[in-house]
Parts: sequence; structure tokens; C-alpha cells
Amino acid sequence: MTLSLKELTAEADRCVACGLCLPHCPTYRKTGSEADSPRGRIQLIRAVSQDILPNNARFKEHIDLCLSCRSCESACPNSVSYGALVDTTRALYIKKESHWLSLAKPFIRYRALSYIGTWPLWLLSKAKLLGTLKRMVPAARLLPTIPKPIVWKSLYPATQTKRGAVSLFLGCASNAFDNQTLSASIDVLNALGYDVHVPKAQTCCGSIVRQAGDAVEADALIAKNSASFERTMPILTVASGCGSGLQDYLATHQVQDISTFLINCDWSTAQLAPLQQRIFVQDPCSLRNGQKAQKTVYDLLKKIPTADIQALPGNGQCCGGAGAYAITQPEMANTLLNDKLAAIKSNQVSILATSNIGCSLHITQGLAHAGLDVHVLHPIQIIAKQMGFKA
Ligand code: SF4
Ligand code: SF4
Repeated sequence: MTLSLKELTAEADRCVACGLCLPHCPTYRKTGSEADSPRGRIQLIRAVSQDILPNNARFKEHIDLCLSCRSCESACPNSVSYGALVDTTRALYIKKESHWLSLAKPFIRYRALSYIGTWPLWLLSKAKLLGTLKRMVPAARLLPTIPKPIVWKSLYPATQTKRGAVSLFLGCASNAFDNQTLSASIDVLNALGYDVHVPKAQTCCGSIVRQAGDAVEADALIAKNSASFERTMPILTVASGCGSGLQDYLATHQVQDISTFLINCDWSTAQLAPLQQRIFVQDPCSLRNGQKAQKTVYDLLKKIPTADIQALPGNGQCCGGAGAYAITQPEMANTLLNDKLAAIKSNQVSILATSNIGCSLHITQGLAHAGLDVHVLHPIQIIAKQMGFKA
């Protein structure tokens, strides 16, 4: 939620400076600086909002280094809304136009453009030329394997006795880089008796531009989504980052993570093949601290007979993906990623389930760089496969 200036100061005033959030803050753990801790940032926000300190480059630096992971919010005994504080601060004081954002904006605004844009990337990857592009353009190194773009139908009817209807939120990154997860979601929902609507006019959730301080653009995207989706139908998200952003800013609609929705469905007619493997689960911050729904992923995967479902040690710390953070703060993003890779290596992980495309892309490129062979999959892809659907 974006606050007014008065609300911003009032919310910052609710922090009693107890410091209980400090050990939960990844940036504080890495830099040891109070100004990179939640308590320090809140004091800075309060001082700038009251014109006690200037809104200068050093203030911006400390706010920019924040991951918006909201671990501090989950740890705070006084329920200080840190997420709203940092979103508002970015909107009021940190608004910026970086090169990557200017480049990304047309694709964020117009889904058709993003659809057209993924074709050349897919063709390059088919022609095995994506590697060349990555060597020539450093930013392209972050590009994952590109699946063949899909033109979505507006309705996928239930294939079993109809139990209800839902809308599916595509999301920019999931649609471009992980449409297998969207297809798997449709297959599973249809098999459980749900019609799946895919509104054509839907757009980006706005989280990435909000994180960059452009609340006007983010609110316009929310308004477009509000007009595109039926209010009476649950909107299901597969990327927890989109889900968390929509839950915060699209209050008129009922938005749920797909795992949260599925765990409450009737599974009596569904058949899941056993899987004699250990699946480690990575908790995205947006699911853990934003939606507070990480448990549903474990509950869902436990439906697979004989599968051993384990939490990836260190799940409380952000992987460094955090929206566009890997682009804007590569040094801290890589430091945090290395902790995640160390946990993956020491636990000999072969399958890693994560519900956020941002985490998935960031971890996958880290694994490739480290030469580690790990399947990083959305939990729904694993469920769909065990139900007999092809990827
Ligand atoms: S835990 Fe809450 S009240 Fe305590 S310092 Fe952190 S934000 Fe402030
Ligand atoms: S959101 Fe994350 S990085 Fe930012 S202050 Fe809170 S715990 Fe630290």
C-alpha cells in the first residue's frame, strides 16, 4: 500500500527501535551497517520525511540496497508495515528512470509487444545462438532458456465434473520464460474440475516498476488489471512476486497463489504417480513474508506418494533475485545467491521447487555458472508431471 506523507511519518513512528528485525535482514547481515538495517532505514525515512535529513545520494543508496524481502516485517513484534514504508519512500523520494527500466517499460505495458519480443529470443535459442548473444551483451547472461511462446485461449474448460471457475494471471516473466508452469497450472486445474479463464486485456502486476519508484505507472497497471478480471472469480498467480504485489494493491479482487488455491480443492478423483526422490523447497520472500503462504507449497507437494519434501536450509534469507535487484544491485545479489548455492551444494539437491520466477531465474543462472546440475521447477510442474501431463 502506498502511504501519504503524513501516514509515512506516522508508520515510521511506530518503530520502537527494539532491533529484533536486525538479525533477519540480509543486507544488515552482510554489511553490518545500521543504515542497511530495517531499523536504520526506518530512522532515515522518518528523518527525510520530516526534512531533518536531506534526500541525498547516500539516503538513496541505503534504500536502493533494500531487497523489499520484508523479512523484517515478519519479525517485527510491533507489526510495522515496512513494505508500505519502503514502497512509499521509493515513490516519493527515489523515483528514477534507469536504462533497463526505460527498455523494459514498453514490454511491461503492452503484453503483445512482450509476446512478439520473445519470438526472436526463442529462435536464437533454437539456433543455439543465445550463447553468442550472452557473450556479446553482459545483461543477456541473465536470460534463461526460452520456451516457445504460446498464444493463450481465453477459456480452458474443465475436463472433469465442473466444480468452479478461476482466472489465471500470466505475469510478464512467467509468460516469457516459464510458460510451461502456466500450461501445467491449466492442466491441473482443468483436471480438478475448474474452468480456467485467461483474460486477454490483463497486464503486468506493476511490482517491478513500483520497486523502481514509479508508483504512477504501477497504479495504472493495477487499474488495467482491475478492469480485466472478474471480481467474482479468484485470480490465481503462479509467480509469488506477482501474487504478493496484486494482493497488496488489487484489493477489489480475490488473489491467491496457485498452491494455496489447490490445497483447498477436492483431490479425491486425482491420481498422482509416486516419486521416489527428495524435493527441496525454496521459499520465495514474496510467498513467505508477503503472502505468508509458503506452507501450502509443502502441503501440495506432499500429495505425491513417496516423495520426500524438505525445506532448503537458509530459506529465511532472500536469494537476491528480488525483482530487478540482480540487475540494479549485482554485487549484493550475487553474495546472497552464493549462500543459496552453498546450501544447494552441501545438501546435494537434485530437484529444487520454487514458486517465484524471479528466484527461479536468478538461482538457475547461478547454478549454470557454478556447473551444478539441479532441476529448478515450479511445484505445479512437478504435480502436473506426476498426474501424467507432459511438460
Ligand atoms: S522489529 Fe519492528 S519495532 Fe523493532 S526495530 Fe525492527 S521495525 Fe522497529
Ligand atoms: S525488506 Fe529485507 S533487505 Fe529491506 S530492510 Fe527489511 S529485511 Fe532488510
